[in-house]
Amino acid sequence: MSDLRTDLEALRATARDRLSAADSAEAVEALRHDLLGRSGQLTGLLRQLGSVAPADRPPLGQLANEVRREVEAAVDARLADLRGSDLDARLAAETIDMSAPGRPVPIGHLHPVLTTMRDLREIFHAYGFEVFEGPEVETEEYNFELLNIPPDHPARDLWDTLYVAEPGSVESGDPRPAADGTILRTHTSPAQVRAMQALEAPIRVLTPGRCFRYEAVDASHGFEFFQVEGLVVDRDTSLADLKGLLEEVARALYGREVPTRFRPGYYPFTEPSVAFDIGCLVCGGAGCAACKRSGWMTILGAGMVHPDVLRAGGFDPDEYQGYAFGMGPDRMTMLRHAIGDIRLFFSADLRFATQFAEGR
Ligand SMILES: [Zn+2]
Repeated sequence: MSDLRTDLEALRATARDRLSAADSAEAVEALRHDLLGRSGQLTGLLRQLGSVAPADRPPLGQLANEVRREVEAAVDARLADLRGSDLDARLAAETIDMSAPGRPVPIGHLHPVLTTMRDLREIFHAYGFEVFEGPEVETEEYNFELLNIPPDHPARDLWDTLYVAEPGSVESGDPRPAADGTILRTHTSPAQVRAMQALEAPIRVLTPGRCFRYEAVDASHGFEFFQVEGLVVDRDTSLADLKGLLEEVARALYGREVPTRFRPGYYPFTEPSVAFDIGCLVCGGAGCAACKRSGWMTILGAGMVHPDVLRAGGFDPDEYQGYAFGMGPDRMTMLRHAIGDIRLFFSADLRFATQFAEGR
């Protein structure tokens, strides 16, 4: 019995010395394990309690509990000490250099497609065009009917459309198009009709914006893309005016020497319609993969506004004429920077986006 008491007292005494000697939090934790852990010294002594005389057990048990409480308290106190002095040491070691320059704050920049659209806006601004924006969520009427594309018109096959669902039909597990024909616009042309309805002649507007189509996404097709369209409505305006304007714009975009040509085209909302080509920027006209060996690249479609579309906009086609043209800023940006995959524009990948930070 006296052996156990002596051992407990010895443990109490040595624990204090060993704790004062421990000079880091890690050392104190190791000591806690060694003294109080499941296979530690105190636990070992407590196991001997069963073999002492029953009458001696209560006082020895009480002593063991006292020692445990003391050692636990001493361990906590030593840890608090060490942490306090760690902080003191850090505060003493750290200084602030008030004269050091600040860290630059990254402020971001325009997406390369938006840069192209701004450049287009500036070029056309010089020719008297103002910006007129239409809604991205449109009605079938504005997106198709008023642009001379009736419901049974084969031209509707040109666009696979994203329909807005009838309220509640998605939740009920039976999604169907809204009865009022609400869709995501497939082109920015509906804004032409809206501009004609809102403005007085002469009209010179640019209608930039985002469009949506139900497309199988690949390197050259996205379900989301941009268009920039232009519309002029005036008395005595003609295809010759359109031709002159587009040739000037091509020179502003691609340099004075760029060769241009017009080809017949087809759009339901213009008559006649044309495609406008420039000499291939990659091969200079010799023929390469980028221009499909033709030496030419189509940069926009255009034409004289169809009389029915003029009427839809509130103009008498016997009195007024108009011309319109549409460009694809995504494709123009790809040409400009030799970007091979349209999906990069929507990938939100900073490794791609930050390459276009220059000067913006
Ligand atoms: Zn080429």
